[in-house]
Amino acid sequence: MTSFTFEGRTIEAEDGETVLSALLRGGHEISNGCQAGACQACLLRSGDSVPRAAQNGLDDTLIERGIFLSCQAKASDIQSAERLDNEVFPRFAAKLVDKQWVTDDVIIASLKVDGWQGSPGRFIRLHSSDGVSRPYSLAAPAWMEPEFVQLHIRYIPGGAMSESLKSATVGNAFEIEGPFGKCCYRTTDQQEPILLIGSGTGLAPLYGIVTDALRKGHEGPISLHFGAATSSRLYFQLELKKLTDQHPNFQFHTYADSEVLENDRVGSPLDGALKEHAKLDGYKVYLCGHPNLVKAGQRKCFLAGASLKDIFADAFVAA
Ligand SMILES: Cc1cc2nc3c(=O)[nH]c(=O)nc-3n(C[C@H](O)[C@H](O)[C@H](O)COP(=O)(O)OP(=O)(O)OC[C@H]3O[C@@H](n4cnc5c(N)ncnc54)[C@H](O)[C@@H]3O)c2cc1C
Repeated sequence: MTSFTFEGRTIEAEDGETVLSALLRGGHEISNGCQAGACQACLLRSGDSVPRAAQNGLDDTLIERGIFLSCQAKASDIQSAERLDNEVFPRFAAKLVDKQWVTDDVIIASLKVDGWQGSPGRFIRLHSSDGVSRPYSLAAPAWMEPEFVQLHIRYIPGGAMSESLKSATVGNAFEIEGPFGKCCYRTTDQQEPILLIGSGTGLAPLYGIVTDALRKGHEGPISLHFGAATSSRLYFQLELKKLTDQHPNFQFHTYADSEVLENDRVGSPLDGALKEHAKLDGYKVYLCGHPNLVKAGQRKCFLAGASLKDIFADAFVAA
């Protein structure tokens, strides 16, 4: 047994138990989602030291404030914890202003968010009026008005947020909270190569990052490799083609596993990207979408020479 203090109370925890698990077992209401360190729903703060492994993927400003992922911290590794004040991640009122199905399972939702200030590539927590909340990445192109966000949402039949969005109509109210994560254009050297790899709606943050980089005048090569199960599930190709026409330093390749059309490559975007970019020293690498692709990508890109601090990833782990 071990124990820590939570907002003035002593919490007993089993050996090896996480902070989140001990708190939930004790009947404390702690928001949480994937419990795999990806969605950042369970953030808490500690005034004492916090293991770095419980801060993976957090922005430096959060790390400095002792904020950590309670699903990743072992109870035995912390002395105290408390919930975050509302001002750390404020909530903004949002209104659905446009909704388009771009394939039979991808909805592009645009929302007007009063007081919002961009952040293409990072993710927010979308709250529906019926109390469901889920993380979604910001696809919003950098030239969109700052008070608008655009999300690419894969519709999962029966999924709580999927069904909320399916039935939502223009004018419906939502809230967004955030932004979270580190996936955004953060290059200081405008010549450095950028490699982006994703699957499914993992295109959302990658598109946000590419447009932000191009708008900020990035001059180095930017290469996007993006895949889906079948060619019919690949979307946004016209938008991407438009970018290649306007920016010679940007190129993209599309991949599908089956029912592959002429312009797409067969197989995985990760393998395709690494075939073309065998040595990744000096690259910034972004990986988004299916958790297996992201996990394999982090390992393979590191082995190909990318520095760990230059690999940014958001795995779309389900709640
Ligand atoms: C950091 C982060 C960023 C994300 N960004 C995006 C994004 O930009 N676009 C996007 O579409 N999603 C994104 N996701 C996933 C998203 O948060 C939800 O998990 C997803 O939309 C399903 O929510 P739901 O409420 O519709 O389904 P739920 O009610 O959560 O799930 C219903 C059922 O479907 C299963 N399920 C959930 N997801 C999948 C899946 N992908 N494939 C198969 N079965 C599934 C669940 O296990 C459950 O059994 C992101 C996740 C994370 C952690």
